Amino acid sequence: MQYVVIGNGIIAMSSAFRLLSKISANDTIILIGPNERVGSATLAAAAMLNSFAEIHSNSFKSDADIFHFELSHLATRLWPEFEKELIDAAGENLPGACAKCQIHSGGCFEKGTYILNNTVADELDDRNFAAIVQACEDFNEQYEFVEPQSIPNYAPSTDSRANKAILIHNEGWLNPRIVLEKLDAILSNHAQITVKDAKVTKLEQTDGKISSVLLDTNERIEGDVFLVANGAPSEELLSDSDLGLQIQPIFYGVGVSLEIKSPGFGLTKCIRTPNRGGACGVYTAPYFQGPQLANDHVLIGASNFLSPKPFYHGRVISIAHLLESATKEINANFADAQLVRVNVGWRPTSQDVYPLLGGTSIANLFVTTGTKRDGFHLAPVISQNIAALMCGEDVDPRLSIFNPEREPIRDIAREDAIEMGVESLISQHYQHGYRPSGIRMDRQYREYIRRDLEELHDSVGAVDWGIHPELINMYRRGFAK
Ligand SMILES: Cc1cc2nc3c(=O)[nH]c(=O)nc-3n(C[C@H](O)[C@H](O)[C@H](O)COP(=O)(O)OP(=O)(O)OC[C@H]3O[C@@H](n4cnc5c(N)ncnc54)[C@H](O)[C@@H]3O)c2cc1C
Repeated sequence: MQYVVIGNGIIAMSSAFRLLSKISANDTIILIGPNERVGSATLAAAAMLNSFAEIHSNSFKSDADIFHFELSHLATRLWPEFEKELIDAAGENLPGACAKCQIHSGGCFEKGTYILNNTVADELDDRNFAAIVQACEDFNEQYEFVEPQSIPNYAPSTDSRANKAILIHNEGWLNPRIVLEKLDAILSNHAQITVKDAKVTKLEQTDGKISSVLLDTNERIEGDVFLVANGAPSEELLSDSDLGLQIQPIFYGVGVSLEIKSPGFGLTKCIRTPNRGGACGVYTAPYFQGPQLANDHVLIGASNFLSPKPFYHGRVISIAHLLESATKEINANFADAQLVRVNVGWRPTSQDVYPLLGGTSIANLFVTTGTKRDGFHLAPVISQNIAALMCGEDVDPRLSIFNPEREPIRDIAREDAIEMGVESLISQHYQHGYRPSGIRMDRQYREYIRRDLEELHDSVGAVDWGIHPELINMYRRGFAK
């Protein structure tokens, strides 16, 4: 059998890695993706392994959302073992930064995320913070309230300080560049894998099955089982291939993150706000460089805007806003830091905001995309399941919720969506300096947004379902239906 894996981000590569432990000695894998990895979400990620920290006040309202959380919760627990498997598999090809790895106690893998409750944005922060605490209680997750002033290297400007904070003990982070380097080393040195530096331009179908893929180098690669895992452009690739599949739109969640070098102010744990309207709030994560190197790189994240087309460079306003937010809300000493790199990554964001994961109506074609802002964290779980499916094994039947050809999941009621939309937009405005002259103006403005969202719902026929706040602009501009 020949397995063809399209893409070279964390999802494609971890899936290829899992396949290795399942296939027989005569089987082969071809992994196709451009070395440059333009727009790679993986390389822009923090990468925080957050599950509880991602909870918000509207979480757990549907079966799909509860199951998604369950996968994310499982992923947090699988990472230490997965990382160990990668290190063992890399053997003598282990990247330099992984030498002397201690896995559970240092190096590029650490646990611990502080969540701040400050008053820089609006009350949505308070509700989301309360929802995180409640979920930690309900699921018996290890956490504790801490004095914000006691958080190492937390030094916000005076008017942006938090008055509450918690530490979630088991949610950590990894340097995604080092993880990809490790996967590159494992896969490119394995006798059963061929790595191709190219882009797939088309999947070709013969007798109801995928028979081959065409590359931008004009090469044709034949195979028996195919996985489409090329991130945000995956839906475009499938529709350009005219396979007759009904795949919902996947948008480019264009996100900027910033790597800074801040001598004396490195971190060992993530420090972040709860999710805010439009994105994940502001966060800083340690950005491990290597065992002999100073721990002074920090990743600041992250902006987000949805687009039907890719953007290749970060918006100036996003970069300015991230630098200002991290300096004000996390550590005023970042003002003296050096800007090392601006990352731009495309979060694969589906119309219904849930992942697309599993087989399709073409028996030998599998798809994994739509992981939005949690794909790095979910990789050990997704790869385990997708490799099993590609090898004909059974998986949790609930995974069919995320069938790639499903109708978009509509699990928010219209009234709730409008309420969430108002909350989200007001939170976004507060993050960018909105200060109403008084309560009357604020009421008027909220009412204006509410009426506008009602009209938008009417215009797209959203009578008994609601538009997810992140998708408002895509519906408004006619890209989502
Ligand atoms: C700023 C930012 C911060 C984030 N932070 C986190 C975080 O803290 N934790 C977390 O879990 N997640 C985070 N995410 C989300 C996470 O990065 C994604 O969910 C995940 O990386 C998606 O992985 P992927 O492999 O599907 O896509 P990608 O990483 O985008 O990889 C897709 C790859 O496919 C290649 N490709 C594209 N087209 C083709 C083609 N036609 N043929 C072959 N190859 C192709 C591309 O070059 C690319 O390398 C963040 C994302 C961003 C943008």
